[in-house]
Parts: sequence; C-alpha cells; structure tokens
Amino acid sequence: MNQLFNQPIQYLKGVGPKRSEILERLGIKTILDLLYYFPRDYNDFSKIQKISESKIGAKITIRGTIAGIQNRVARGGKPILEVFVSDETGTIAATWFNQPFLVNKFHVGDRLFLHGKVNSYKYLQLLSPEYEMLGDEVSGFTTWGIIPVYPLTEHISQTQLRKIIHSAIQCCADLLDDTLPEALVKKYNFSHAAEAIKHIHFPPSPEQLSRAKNRLVYEELFILEVAMALRRRSIKSEQGISFKAGANVDGHIRKIIPFPLTGAQERVVHEIKEDMKNTKPMNRLLQGDVGSGKTVVALYAALIAVANGYQVAFMAPTEILAQQHFHTLQKFLHASQVRLCLLTGSSDAKYKKETLSQLSNGTIDLIVGTHALIEETISFKNLGFVVIDEQHKFGVLQRLKLRKKGVSPDVLIMTATPIPRTLAITLFGDMDISFLDEMPPGRIPAKTYWISKNKETAAYEFIRGEIKKGRQVFVIYPLVEQSEKLDLKSAVTEAERLQKEIFPECKVGLLHGKMKSSEKEQVMKDFKEKRYDILVSTIIIEVGIDIPNATVMVIEHAERFGLAQLHQLRGRIGRGCEQSYCLLFGIPKTAISRERLRTMVKTHDGFKIAEMDFKLRGPGEFFGTRQHGLPELKISNLFHDFPILQKARKDAFEIVNNDPHLSSEEYQKIKQRVTEMFKDRLELFTIG
Ligand code: ADP
Ligand code: MG
Repeated sequence: MNQLFNQPIQYLKGVGPKRSEILERLGIKTILDLLYYFPRDYNDFSKIQKISESKIGAKITIRGTIAGIQNRVARGGKPILEVFVSDETGTIAATWFNQPFLVNKFHVGDRLFLHGKVNSYKYLQLLSPEYEMLGDEVSGFTTWGIIPVYPLTEHISQTQLRKIIHSAIQCCADLLDDTLPEALVKKYNFSHAAEAIKHIHFPPSPEQLSRAKNRLVYEELFILEVAMALRRRSIKSEQGISFKAGANVDGHIRKIIPFPLTGAQERVVHEIKEDMKNTKPMNRLLQGDVGSGKTVVALYAALIAVANGYQVAFMAPTEILAQQHFHTLQKFLHASQVRLCLLTGSSDAKYKKETLSQLSNGTIDLIVGTHALIEETISFKNLGFVVIDEQHKFGVLQRLKLRKKGVSPDVLIMTATPIPRTLAITLFGDMDISFLDEMPPGRIPAKTYWISKNKETAAYEFIRGEIKKGRQVFVIYPLVEQSEKLDLKSAVTEAERLQKEIFPECKVGLLHGKMKSSEKEQVMKDFKEKRYDILVSTIIIEVGIDIPNATVMVIEHAERFGLAQLHQLRGRIGRGCEQSYCLLFGIPKTAISRERLRTMVKTHDGFKIAEMDFKLRGPGEFFGTRQHGLPELKISNLFHDFPILQKARKDAFEIVNNDPHLSSEEYQKIKQRVTEMFKDRLELFTIG
C-alpha cells in the first residue's frame, strides 16, 4: 500500500497537532484511518423539491439562498428567528423559537438545505427545520445533499470532521489500491476501492451509497474470514497429539460416569473423540445451555487424555466456579486413580509451590483452576488437553498462552452463551463447533412469569410459600454502568426492605460486586448451606454456583437485562428435582424490552433465545465481540449482512486454500489488512 496512507493525519491540510490529538481519541491516527472512519448515519437532503410545491402539513426538502433574516421578539416576549429562503420558484420562512443564538449561523446570500414540515402562518414557513449549509462549490461536500453524520468526540464539530475527511479524500482517495483481488471485484460487479470510499462518505445518490456500502461490507467481512481461514490453517498445521480412544479406554470412562449420556452428549463425545485421535490439534467450541451436561462431556474428553498419559488443565473464569468444577470432578473421580488438584489465586504459597512442582514432574493428572493456570511460572510435564469453561470471560490471548505451555494440546472451549448456529459456524470459522442441544432427563424447565406491578404482593406471597417448603430464593438486581453507585445503593436498600417489610421471618443475604472476594465467597457458602432463605445479588457470574435447593429466581428491573443475561440467570435455578420458578419484575418501556420479556416467558431453548437476542439487539451489543477475539466491525452488521458474510467466507477460504501463505502479489494488500484488523492479536496468526 502506498506509504502516504500510513502518514499521521497531521500532515493533512487543516490538521495541526491539536486536531490530531482530538482525532486520535476517535481512533484516527493515519490518513487511512480517516478514510475508513465511516459515517454512522446520513442526513438526506437529496430529494429536493421546489418551494412552489409546498403542501401545508407535508414534509419538504428544499435548496435555496438566504434572502433575508429577522430576529424579533413575539408578543409574549419569546424571541423568534426567521430566515427567509428562496429558490427559483418562491420563498419560505424557516422559523425557530427561543434560539436567538442561531442567528450567527446564517448570512444573507448563504445557500442551504432545509427539511421540515410546511406550516402556514401569514406566509409559508418551516418550523425548526433541519438545515445544512451548502459549502462553497469547491470544497462542495454538501452539494449532493446526502450529508454524512460521524460519531464525534468533544472539541470537534460535524462540519470540521466532514471538512477533514473531505480533504483526505481529495488528496488521497484516488491513490487507494484495491484490497480485493480484481477477480472478486468483477465477480460481484463491485465499485473499486477509491470510488467506494468516496461514495460512502459523500454519496451522490442513495443508489451509489448502497453500492459503496455493499462493497465495503463485503470487504470487511472478507478480511475477517481470511483471518479465520488463516487461523484455522495455522492451528491445523501444528503437529498435535494423536490420542488413543479405543473400546478399552471408553469402557473405563463409562464406569466413572454414573448415568447414560444423552443423545446429544453421545454425538458430541464422538465428535471430540475423532478430533483427539487425529494428529491435528483440536480447537473445538462446545456450546450448550446451563445444565445441558457440558462438564460431563469435558470430563469424558479429559479422561481420554489422562488415559493416554497426558496432563489436563481445566480452567474456569472465577475462583468460585473453579472450586465448583473441582468438587464436581472430585465426586466423579473419587474412586478412580486420577490425581486431581485445585489451584487458584488464593491458594497459599506453600501449597502453590508444591503443586507447581507436581505439575512439572507429572504427579498431577488433572488440574482445575482459574487463569492463574496460565501464569508464566507454571510448567507442565506433558500438558495434552485443555478445557476452558468460558462463561464469556476469557480472551483469546489467554487461550493462546496456555496453548504455548503444552506441545500443542487439544483445546475444548465451553460456553453457556449459545450463539445462533448459522452465525457460529460462519463466524468462528477457525474452530470446530459442537452443540449440546438436549437436556439430561428429569430436568423440569422453570416456569416463567412476568409480574406486573399490581401482582407484586401476590408474587411475594407465593415466594413465602416456597420458603415455607424449605426452598431458597435468588433476587437479582441489575447494575447499570453509568449509575452503578446509585444502583448499588438501591440494591442495598432493596435487601433491607425485603428483610424488614416483606419477609421479616426469613433471613435475607446480600451479595454485590464491590465486596471482597473472600466476603463474596462467604456469602455464597452461607447461602449454599442454607443460612439464608433469600439472596439479593447484583452480580451474575458469581451465582454460576450450583444450588439445587434454590427454586425461585426473582429478577428485578428485568427490562434492563439483555435476553442472554436473563436466560443465564434463569439457568441458575431448576437444578434440583423440584419445579422452579422465574419471576420477572419490571415495567418495560420499549417495544423491544417487552418483546424480550415475552420471549423469556415463552421459550426455554437457549439457541432460540440467542437467535431472538441477536435479532433484537443487533450484533454490536450481541456479545462482547472482543471477548470472542473478534475485531470491532466498522461497517458490517452480522445479522443484516449475514448473506454477504457467507459469500465472503466462501471466497476467503477458497483463496487461503489455494495460497495458504497469501504469497501471490495480488494478495499482499489482503495480508496487510488482516494485520491491521488484528493488530493487537497478531500472534494468533502465522501469515506469510
Ligand atoms: P453444564 O456444565 O452444561 O451446565 P453439567 O455438566 O453441570 O451442565 O450438568 C448439569 C447436571 O446434569 C449435573 O448435575 C450433571 O451431573 C447432570 N447430568 C449431566 N449429564 C447427564 C445425563 N446424561 N443424565 C443425567 N444427568 C446428567
Ligand atoms: Mg489430536
């Protein structure tokens, strides 16, 4: 790529050190960044009408020249600004009340766009119309009437940013090389890069805008999929372990697991076994709802590795979950000869030291822990298999660090956040994916109710009844980031209220994220040991703990949670053999939040809920993309652009298949873009 594009923006006309500092806050450092800083929206003044066509009550867009300006005070003392605008067919007044300062924006002779509703007073007027000044014809970025609206930061205005981007386009856009190989541009009849960039910022027409967008969306998703293809290839080219998993090993393992596997578990175990036998390292994502039996599947795989003489690391996102996994595994393994061990951040120094030496001399077969397991100081004798219980808390890099500790261990990542199947397959092209879509027998889905304000008392009575039967209750309170302090205060108040006013005969506990981790653990332990009937909690992940006696999940302000979160929370109950209940308190204010609650009442299938969540929220918020190791997407929308994603994926995989190192001259720009897109995660790839 032309050196010019990596130049700091300071070298651009009109951008000094100060401006460039401001732009840097928007992530813009180079001229290329600027060209790829896309509008978040457009003001469309392109369908120009004549003033003479004004119909009272209808909306109109006009382009004209300021013929006169009047700033006066109405009878009630209200300031009124009237700007008279003419085109070749007539004159109309643009009228603003109470905004006398606007007067500085307009000058007689200025040309501008106006968009608003036509009103009739003594003459035709537009009340508080949207307006856009037409630049001088030379800089002319407004002449076509579709005006870009950029995400901004402090100390820079729309007009300033538009001017800067416009000048970047004028100086450099035509020099932009096409990232996409000519064959693909031809295949889809795309516009070329330079044109697409010009038109995405300053579109001459809605059609040209959508053509430009189409190409840039494809380009972005194509780069992403090339990265996926490369990653898959680099993992698959490593030399891994070929585990033996014959009938003998199988028979032993099945004796350890005290129940028959579900159909889905059998299928997934089979998939994993095939991977493990293969000499290529496994890199598999296991998706399944809370309670679908992922742990057992992971145990199965881990035991294959142990039977082959390898060590296994089992990582959980928090200490409490690591402990829980440890205890679960302990129960399964108590009669076996597998040497199991727990290591967390709070293990004491002496124990830690001993454990570390046992890991390096091979005395320990299976170690459970938190990310402390990937600290540099830990070395394994022969790590062969890694389970990562993700619960959406691990980053890709951590996985990688761990991968480096073994030869090339097989890796199984578990997640309880289902991602719509089609999307998962396409997006995580670098992994194989297994779905556990069947619950173990005997699990009764939680009955879910949406409790309106006037039913709250009845709901409390119902809860009292459950507590009388000896059951326990979670009450979850959301914390919204902006007002965490206030929220926390109200959660604390709420716990007091429940204790004093509603359930004086019960014991109410409180758990929140600001507590020390030892305090949190104590509260969870107390709840598990039934020293509380009700636990008011503001945090989600820590309640990942298994408490079969808890049968009621109350979610306060349910409208403030996303669907995936609600579903996760509901998964915390119904772990025993009693009927459980999920009560959603809340007054949803938007159609979307109502739809979310309705979905919760109707559906229990995590994959269906994920699909719905995706639809309702849009992928930006759908899952922390960064947590899945995905770069931020600037222009594409994984839901709406799914058909394009599929095409881009096919093309990308084909190219990487034919030229695994992208060594052909025409792929150099692709390589560079992949590098840019993943700049902070480059070690994931072996390119070139
Ligand atoms: P997940 O890790 O997916 O949340 P778990 O592996 O913890 O689910 O399983 C949930 C519960 O179901 C555990 O108590 C587990 O022992 C039990 N379980 C798992 N698989 C089966 C099965 N095939 N039959 C009966 N119970 C099962
Ligand atoms: Mg293998």
